[in-house]
Amino acid sequence: MPYKIVASQCTNCTACEALCPNQAISEKGNTFVIDPDLCTECVGHFDDPQCVAICPIDNTCVIDSTLPRYAA
Ligand code: SF4
Ligand code: SF4
Repeated sequence: MPYKIVASQCTNCTACEALCPNQAISEKGNTFVIDPDLCTECVGHFDDPQCVAICPIDNTCVIDSTLPRYAA
C-alpha cells in the first residue's frame, strides 16, 4: 500500500511512472499520484522502491504513514 507522492514537490518529470511494477503511478491533475491499492512497496520485484530510487527530488516519494505497511 503505502508510498505516496508529495504533490507540492513533484516536478512532473514522469520518471517514476514507467518504473512501477504495478502500474500504481499515474498523472492526475498537475502532479503524479500513487494508487495505494496497487502499491506493494516493490516487494517481490525490487530490493528498493523504484519510485523513491528514481525520483530526482528528495523526500517526494515517501511512506504514507497513515496506511498499514504492505504485507505480501
Ligand atoms: S513503491 Fe514500488 S510499487 Fe509502490 S508506487 Fe513506488 S514503484 Fe510502485
Ligand atoms: S519521479 Fe518524482 S518528480 Fe518525477 S514525476 Fe515521479 S514523483 Fe514527480
